[in-house]
Amino acid sequence: MIPAGFSYVRAGSVQEALAELSRHGGAARLLAGGHSLLPAMKLRRAEPGVLVDIGRLRELSYVRLDGDQVAVGALTSHRTLERDPVVAEQVPLLAAAARRIGDPQVRNRGTIGGSLAHADPAADLAAAVLALDGVLVAHGPSGVREIPAGEFFTGPRQSALAADELLTEIRLPAAAGLAHAFEKFSRRALDWAVVGVAVQSRPGGRTAVALIGMGPTPLRAVAVEEALAAGTPAAEARSLAARGCEPPDNAVASSSYRAHLAEVLVGRALAL
Ligand SMILES: Cc1cc2nc3c(=O)[nH]c(=O)nc-3n(C[C@H](O)[C@H](O)[C@H](O)COP(=O)(O)OP(=O)(O)OC[C@H]3O[C@@H](n4cnc5c(N)ncnc54)[C@H](O)[C@@H]3O)c2cc1C
Repeated sequence: MIPAGFSYVRAGSVQEALAELSRHGGAARLLAGGHSLLPAMKLRRAEPGVLVDIGRLRELSYVRLDGDQVAVGALTSHRTLERDPVVAEQVPLLAAAARRIGDPQVRNRGTIGGSLAHADPAADLAAAVLALDGVLVAHGPSGVREIPAGEFFTGPRQSALAADELLTEIRLPAAAGLAHAFEKFSRRALDWAVVGVAVQSRPGGRTAVALIGMGPTPLRAVAVEEALAAGTPAAEARSLAARGCEPPDNAVASSSYRAHLAEVLVGRALAL
């Protein structure tokens, strides 16, 4: 439970953080809320030589309505997402997912950027950002690039971010007044999801369905989405929830139990 030795530097700006990442190459890791990285270090699953602390970059903590998009700074806490009036009105699915994360301490310290960059296959905000068709904005040594959420998660705790890139903003299409739902099954209160689902209806009648805990990455339930788009009733479409998924089989739950949970939770979410 004691991390390997590391050095620590606090970045005063995005540029300073990028310079530190470049200077130390793959040995450096960004520290935001520390609620995934520090536990991983204590378990020696992560052994960064240098921690670059971005936790006090207030300029990366904001929620703004920008035309027909909501811009969320990467350092925005889960707690802010729960309470922010712009989030509540324009992307309420994000607030619904944030509300289900861990406990108040985790939600006060954890950040949306840290959660997405950590890329846990069971991360609640990942499901919401996928269902909302979010775009992730990354700054790196060669400039800024935008990564669609559907291309961001590449494997268990792996993302499309390079080691010298910093996630600065998440952009979400405003979805005021559209139906949404977030459902999650955990073994104990405050736990990570065994399986979770985020649903967002879209202009034009299409429905996006994203799953967590059903594969090596958060993913879209494409078979359900296509069935709904073809006019299949929700009560039937839910039976396709696990199609195309590779649910893990481990001590938390068997793959067949996860498939059952996905069907039940997708059914509940589509009924809301
Ligand atoms: C007890 C407990 C319960 C939890 N329960 C849940 C839960 O139910 N659901 C859930 O979804 N999560 C849960 N979490 C995780 C929590 O949401 C974390 O806050 C989140 O996963 C990581 O955010 P962070 O800001 O703490 O990131 P950190 O731990 O600081 O960083 C995580 C990773 O992201 C990288 N990183 C951080 N910020 C950036 C950035 N801006 N750009 C690029 N890389 C970056 C870091 O280098 C590191 O690799 C739980 C955590 C704990 C400790």
